[in-house]
Amino acid sequence: MLKLSRAAYDALRRHGEETYPYECCGVLLGRISDDGGTRVVTSAARCGNTRTDSPHNRYNIDPRELVRIQRVGRERGEEIVGFYHSHPDHPPRWSSTDLAEAHWIGCSYVITSVEKGKAAATNSFELAGSDESDKRLVEEKLEVS
Ligand SMILES: [Zn+2]
Repeated sequence: MLKLSRAAYDALRRHGEETYPYECCGVLLGRISDDGGTRVVTSAARCGNTRTDSPHNRYNIDPRELVRIQRVGRERGEEIVGFYHSHPDHPPRWSSTDLAEAHWIGCSYVITSVEKGKAAATNSFELAGSDESDKRLVEEKLEVS
């Protein structure tokens, strides 16, 4: 399950509207609950989409940007608990590319559909499994508070 602060939820949806008709992407920072079952997001960090070949249906986060966000987060006691991106004029369901490019097992992958420039449904998927060979994206509950 993923818990998002209202501010982080609004921020990631607004990001998708701003980059429309291209995909936006970013990182979710927060903490994992003591029982390990809930990721609690306290902030969303925007990333630039490095995919210039096909930015309307692909996204990629610069690894250097990821390291920088991770470092800034740690200083605040936050860690990377998930990622988000948008699907311009497509449903908020993961694609085979999304699965292939997801590598952080145990993290959440949030997808927001942006229809004609307006953020529509937002879904979250946990990357489950033990490694690359059996990883899978499983829809999870998303709670905004
Ligand atoms: Zn996608």
